[in-house]
Amino acid sequence: MADYKLLINGALVDGDAEMDVINPANEELVAKCPRASRAQLDAAVAAAQAAFPAWRAMPIAERKAKLTAIADIVQANAQELGRILTQEQGKPIGDAVGEAFGASAFFRYFTMLDLPVKVIDDSPNRKVEAHRRPLGVVGAIVPWNFPLILMAFKVPAALLAGNTMVLKPAPTTPLSTLKFAELIKDVLPPGVLNVIADGGELGAEMTAHPGIRKISYTGSTATGKRVMAGAADALKRITLELGGNDASIVLPGSDPKAVAPKIFAGAFQNSGQVCIAIKRAYVHDSIYDAMCEELATLAQNAVVGDGLQQGTQLGPIQNKTQFERVMGLIESAKKDGKIIAGGERLGDKGYFIKPTIVRDITDGARLVDEEQFGPVLPVIRYTDPEDALARANRSEYGLGGSIWSSDLEQAYDLATRMESGTVWVNKHAELAPNIPFGGAKASGIGVELGEEGLAEFTQLQVINVAR
Ligand code: NAD
Repeated sequence: MADYKLLINGALVDGDAEMDVINPANEELVAKCPRASRAQLDAAVAAAQAAFPAWRAMPIAERKAKLTAIADIVQANAQELGRILTQEQGKPIGDAVGEAFGASAFFRYFTMLDLPVKVIDDSPNRKVEAHRRPLGVVGAIVPWNFPLILMAFKVPAALLAGNTMVLKPAPTTPLSTLKFAELIKDVLPPGVLNVIADGGELGAEMTAHPGIRKISYTGSTATGKRVMAGAADALKRITLELGGNDASIVLPGSDPKAVAPKIFAGAFQNSGQVCIAIKRAYVHDSIYDAMCEELATLAQNAVVGDGLQQGTQLGPIQNKTQFERVMGLIESAKKDGKIIAGGERLGDKGYFIKPTIVRDITDGARLVDEEQFGPVLPVIRYTDPEDALARANRSEYGLGGSIWSSDLEQAYDLATRMESGTVWVNKHAELAPNIPFGGAKASGIGVELGEEGLAEFTQLQVINVAR
């Protein structure tokens, strides 16, 4: 019997099959997890369809009250959710509990938004209004790096807009999401939010499912392309939050001692498994050696270990496949550059990698051109800021980026020309629920968060009345 349940039509149910969830810190079993069948996906979609008419008809104030109740429950259970999250995902417990609190705050944020009717024309011969209608059943698909917060990018917005949902976490990190479902199941009418878990096969089934009107997907670019193709047949709405290869450009005149810790945090948070982690640092020739030295010292001093242990700063890579991929990138970086910190696995149990800094590496190397999604940072030398910007923009990705300088005017000018959904100046990876977030180029389609993110869970309907 699995320790966790699926949530389908308001009831906690076993999966038609089971799977193991492994702790990446020790490769031991965390828990048995239910695994939904295709029939259970169909039941979840049917429940969401049945719940839709009453949920959309509910006054928005009542839907908001339910989101507030969910925010309260997540907040009250943040410690427990965080503990489960660390065990399945690997991140330090402080970060995991913080993620649960963050999810609560994101639910609360959306209760402050409305979907007002916009009057476009109110003249003697016509009245034209724009309304925001719900779409129907939304399928939400979440990756394994931030299961709770990325769920909270989607669920409160979709529900506030009057949609019902089927939510699916990643196969290797389903437990915190299933616990969330268990905690909040009595808040919502049956079928409004259904939560299933799978072994990797139901994402495609959801994408093609005729009962689902929109897919809100966060994950890799490769899978995002499959989602787009799968959604084409039914012209399903999609929002895609995909991979990134964020560049940071550190301009001359920057103080390496002051900037390096911020670059390090931006690159190594969650052991680099962040869509908007700094994945390439372009550092001006005049401060290159000093920056490399600072970054190497920070990497050597970082405490890597089991996220449940006090003092751990960086946990393991979340799963074996990703661990092997990052180790492969490190191997190729040994030929393409010079490793000045890390460069190897830590211990022989758990998917730990020593934080790795690579210098004397440049564009064209795999580690620079590909998304590493792990604790390894290439530091690239440049002499002309315009050239650094051109190299930053040469990527197929365009999720985030940052410019670092004491000359705010120059930094701002470069920022306006960076091809990415977000550009930060003198910081990196700051997200907030009221700030829309999305990717340019191969990093995605559409946005989440903010009013713009809410609008993506709606259908625009114009009513044009003759007078
Ligand atoms: P992934 O694409 O392997 O999996 C993500 C989710 O998609 C999982 O739930 C998986 O089960 C599901 N899935 C698998 N095949 C599918 C299919 N054919 N159709 C629909 N769904 C399917 O991604 P991942 O490796 O879990 O996540 C890491 C990637 O996610 C990185 O590239 C990272 O940059 C990206 N990411 C992006 C953002 C963002 O907001 N842009 C945020 C976090 C992570």
